[in-house]
Amino acid sequence: MKWARRQAPYLRIENPIKSAMDITGAFQGGNPQDLQSIVPLGNGSFAIYPFSEDEDACYKFRLDVKVIANGTEASRRVKLQIHWGDVRYIAYRTRIFAGRNGDDWTCHDGTADGDVAHFELDVPPGETYLTLNPKYDYDDYLRLIRRGGDSRSVATEMVTQTLEGREIWLLATRNQERVPKIMVTARAHPYETGGSYCIEGILDDILDGRAEYLQSAHVFVLPMLSPDGVSNGLCKLSRTGGEDIARSENRNDPLVASLFSLVERIQPHFILDLHNWMIPSRNGLYYEKPRWMRQFVENMGRRGHNDREWTYGTRKKFFAESPTGLKAFAKRQFGTRCMTVEYPWFGRSVVQMKRLGSDSLRTVVEMLVK
Ligand SMILES: [Zn+2]
Repeated sequence: MKWARRQAPYLRIENPIKSAMDITGAFQGGNPQDLQSIVPLGNGSFAIYPFSEDEDACYKFRLDVKVIANGTEASRRVKLQIHWGDVRYIAYRTRIFAGRNGDDWTCHDGTADGDVAHFELDVPPGETYLTLNPKYDYDDYLRLIRRGGDSRSVATEMVTQTLEGREIWLLATRNQERVPKIMVTARAHPYETGGSYCIEGILDDILDGRAEYLQSAHVFVLPMLSPDGVSNGLCKLSRTGGEDIARSENRNDPLVASLFSLVERIQPHFILDLHNWMIPSRNGLYYEKPRWMRQFVENMGRRGHNDREWTYGTRKKFFAESPTGLKAFAKRQFGTRCMTVEYPWFGRSVVQMKRLGSDSLRTVVEMLVK
């Protein structure tokens, strides 16, 4: 990183390629946003140094840059060296997505050499995002909220504003008298865009009005728990110097305090917390009883979600055995049951991720009301 900072200005002056093709992360939701962390090397090659706010390699899975190819009508070849600064999880960082807004993200496999991942791909004229997980930023989230707000079947409420002025919204179905009350949360960890697409799938069901399972529960959705983290290109924390929202019970943090107050008001029977880890071959389930999770996996399998292994139960490899943060608080105060799910992107399309979200909620509701 230090090398990049020292060298970048000189390389820029020497390289005229910038005018024809450039790469930037200097936008809302970009990573790296620091101009000096992307170094043009000539001939369409760039060295990129992604950042993480606390250098926790276990969460350093964020790359959100934009290629701008001007002055050509043909596709152009771009070569990337992504300097991750960590060897241990490099195998999880050798596949990137390319796309614009919408559903058309394509996967590109690269190779690893130490802590550097190499990619070579053709980009069309104009702007193309290159990302480790399909882009879903604060503006995409606000569009989702508007989509809910325009419908009579959804109640929208702004819960609070973050320290940086971004909005935390709650969407709820309008069948107020129904139990169980189920709270669905996503983007506690900013890099994990899978949860956002799962939420899009759930909102599709709510707006469609024909999904029967939604008649049997009162559903509360918090689509983006860490919008400052998402916008600042962070990996794990709610904001620079903020909290890990999936684990924190620090009520001195205004965001944590607001979320805890919301849980006190709703008193949910169940919290479904959506995450996307980077382990390609396995889905993960945590915190419910092993037998219940086994049944969940069986039911999901019947809906066609058996394309990869599921890890569940008490294997204490990545997580505490008991819930943490908001979920732990809800469990102590109100006996709330909860489950964290980890749905990796690898091999999944946006459409499949949306279906996975709606089928997960459907399965939880059906199992709770049975
Ligand atoms: Zn997570």
